[in-house]
Amino acid sequence: MPYIQFLGAAGTVTGSKHLINTSDDSSGKPGLQVLIDCGLFQGQKEWRERNWQDTPIPAREIDAVILTHAHLDHCGWIPRLVKEGFRGPIYATQPTIDLCSVVLPDSGHLQEEDAAFYNKKKVSKHDPALPLYTFEEAQDCQQYFKPVAVEQTMQLSPELSFRFVRAAHILGSCMVEVALPVNGRSSRLLFTGDVGRVRDSEIAPGKVVHSGPQEGETADVLVMESTYGNREHPKIDPRPQLASLIRDTVKRGGSVIVPAFAVERTQKFLFILKEMMESAEIPRVPVYCDSPMAIKAVEIFMKHSEEYTPQSAELIRKYGTPVEWQGFIFAQTAEESKKINESNFPSIIISSSGMVTGGRILHHLGQRLPDPKNLVLFIGFQAPGTRGAIIKGGAPEVKIFGQFIPIRAQVEAIEQYSDHADPPEMLEWLQTFKNKPGVTYLVHGEPTASSQLRSLMKKELGWNVQVAEYMEKVGVK
Ligand SMILES: [Zn+2]
Repeated sequence: MPYIQFLGAAGTVTGSKHLINTSDDSSGKPGLQVLIDCGLFQGQKEWRERNWQDTPIPAREIDAVILTHAHLDHCGWIPRLVKEGFRGPIYATQPTIDLCSVVLPDSGHLQEEDAAFYNKKKVSKHDPALPLYTFEEAQDCQQYFKPVAVEQTMQLSPELSFRFVRAAHILGSCMVEVALPVNGRSSRLLFTGDVGRVRDSEIAPGKVVHSGPQEGETADVLVMESTYGNREHPKIDPRPQLASLIRDTVKRGGSVIVPAFAVERTQKFLFILKEMMESAEIPRVPVYCDSPMAIKAVEIFMKHSEEYTPQSAELIRKYGTPVEWQGFIFAQTAEESKKINESNFPSIIISSSGMVTGGRILHHLGQRLPDPKNLVLFIGFQAPGTRGAIIKGGAPEVKIFGQFIPIRAQVEAIEQYSDHADPPEMLEWLQTFKNKPGVTYLVHGEPTASSQLRSLMKKELGWNVQVAEYMEKVGVK
């Protein structure tokens, strides 16, 4: 019987990897092995260590990867898979491929930096500490990417086909519909990847891509994310709160430090800042966008205008590209980045990584966290165990580059910018399904989030819902 095996994002929000094995024992034919997503584990050590484990079947025996979107927790293990011998096609939409061409080499660069740091400090039990993969290895794996248009059916073998449909999560993001024969009839599997906001941008202002995942789906087996399974997003416009936080910080002579994923989330936030400056809701202080990939990310973002909401299209029509805006400074080199730290004037610094797991944000926080004048503002999800979650959780100190840094800066979070549907939005979307799936497996959630969403779905929809377990194999009926 064909089966799905959950190789990641089970019991946690990172490391998304779901293996479909189509082998049919009765016919004795070897089946296809297809991986849906190939994400990096992030956060707690017990999870990160799984990045070093081999796949349960040799990487070279995996026939193809189908990628839902370009967040590292969904694509960041691809260079490692290739390093271990995978040579098949990686199917993704063109915007996802463009984003991967930036985020994967950047991830390789961070892996190399981490290894170099551990070797210098001699704090790793491995001697020498090695990167999971390098910048160059991440660049090399670009050759395996194959663009697939949304709603185009791709036949991977006489039996198995798939199709991308909109997930409305980030630029290029899609869900994957898979069709394969089981017991003489075609079975439909739907992998959601991350599900975007379901309602329009009134409650999710600044949303860049169109709201609303594909409606009217049918599925025999549904594999669905549950990141926000136990929390609802605030329903109020975040801009007044954001404006007052920025004004107060500037008034006391401090700077605002925003950890943000360099691609998409940063662009979205830049447009919100620009709009609030033009309407004089916030003062015109310098905005530093500190990431080696920031300019490339803006270019990709500007290229795929077909995915914008009308509001985003209007902002771009009015103000043009962020690279040209006065007072918005893009730091590419390490020297340009260091210069930001020399400035004592109030400013807004947006830097990655978004969960403070690495990157230049570490330098900015290391320098500015001890000063109560400053504000650290979170605009994205913080996975448990990450430095971002520790700072956001109100800890008195945080370890950065081996040193404990006292946290005296103000710490705030704005949850409205989430790109994930919350439980009421999930239900709204699931109610558009044409059938009741035979079984739903919840993945990509902390245990409490997944189990609460499971209870809600059972109660409200009467569906058969299971929470997927790490390495669990489930048959496809
Ligand atoms: Zn995502």
